Amino acid sequence: MAGSPGAATRAEMQDKFPWVERERLLLAPYATYSVASRGRKYLEPQHPYRGPFQRDRDRILHCSAFRRLSGKMQVFTGEMGDYHRTRLTHTHEVATIARTIGRVLRLNEDLIEALALLHDIGHPPFGHSGEEALNESLHACGGFSHNQFALTIVEQLESRYTAYPGLNLSTEVLEGQIFRITHQGQLPSLEVQVVDLADSIAYNAHDADDAMKLGLLDFEQLSALALVQRAMAWQSPDFSAPQSELLRRKLLIHHLIEVQVADLLETVLRQLKDAASSIDEVKGKEQFELTWSPPMTKERQVFSRFLFDNVYRHPQLVAIRARARQKIKELFDRLTARPELLPERFQARALTIGVERAAAEYIGGMTDRFCDSQHRLLIEMGQTTAEDWR
Ligand code: MG
Repeated sequence: MAGSPGAATRAEMQDKFPWVERERLLLAPYATYSVASRGRKYLEPQHPYRGPFQRDRDRILHCSAFRRLSGKMQVFTGEMGDYHRTRLTHTHEVATIARTIGRVLRLNEDLIEALALLHDIGHPPFGHSGEEALNESLHACGGFSHNQFALTIVEQLESRYTAYPGLNLSTEVLEGQIFRITHQGQLPSLEVQVVDLADSIAYNAHDADDAMKLGLLDFEQLSALALVQRAMAWQSPDFSAPQSELLRRKLLIHHLIEVQVADLLETVLRQLKDAASSIDEVKGKEQFELTWSPPMTKERQVFSRFLFDNVYRHPQLVAIRARARQKIKELFDRLTARPELLPERFQARALTIGVERAAAEYIGGMTDRFCDSQHRLLIEMGQTTAEDWR
């Protein structure tokens, strides 16, 4: 690939760049090493003191799509309160949990953090209802997925450099995102797997927390579940001791994350130890899948199903979702019927990718609040130009 580290040998790079030696000392043999990166689409010189995945992490953190995650809902909308997670705070929880796991397994934490910060960057406004609405609107021309849109954002829509479009991220970061789209083929790097598992640990725990805070669930309902019982039994402080409702909820969420991370690490470390005699197999990574113990896998499935039935399909949420879907569809219909309403750069994109996809990209980048305001201006007030969210 054009941007591979080039002709320099590992030893030469080690002398020149401090991150090479740092990773050599800290990472396990089966980790993804920066020095072995397959590089970037557009050739760039190495940075003197930031490794390639650290630069990727920084590029994602500083891009405008990342900042807009603060205005995008995770599960619950802003009109429901301001305690619950946004897409941004969810992303940081995922990154934190993933880094904890990655550090114990001696994986590449810079790569893990880059992947975690990137993983939800393509979410349109209003969470999954926004995605469903855009997917239905684009049904005839390939559909819409937030995972695919994340790639479009970092490869085409973000502009920070004169030499190339997008953020020019490393192949290993882009491949992690591609795996989220296909979930096919060889198992991805262990860093990609860690972020995927941390994502589900984070949303299982915080969606339960947010739903309890909003009164959609109560503690007694949850405590019938085996995973919750396991969390309540996890070390001190003792759940049977008198405590406030608030403290009980916070303890439970803390323990829910702990028991899932601990089970994963114990299971994986045992498997890695067993595989030590054939380290090349682990090194190849294709054969090594990070998993929980069978009892934990089962308990997590039951827990996820419970959240699906009792939270994600709660009548209060269903009504909000239906309104959000309608809003996005009306905006999409107006913008595709009158493309001159689109900001100039999306009108230009429409010439190459079609007006439907250009309108979906414009809407997909919006925060919830910006989407509300554009709906009000373009649909309710009949304004004749849209604003760009850049
Ligand atoms: Mg996520």
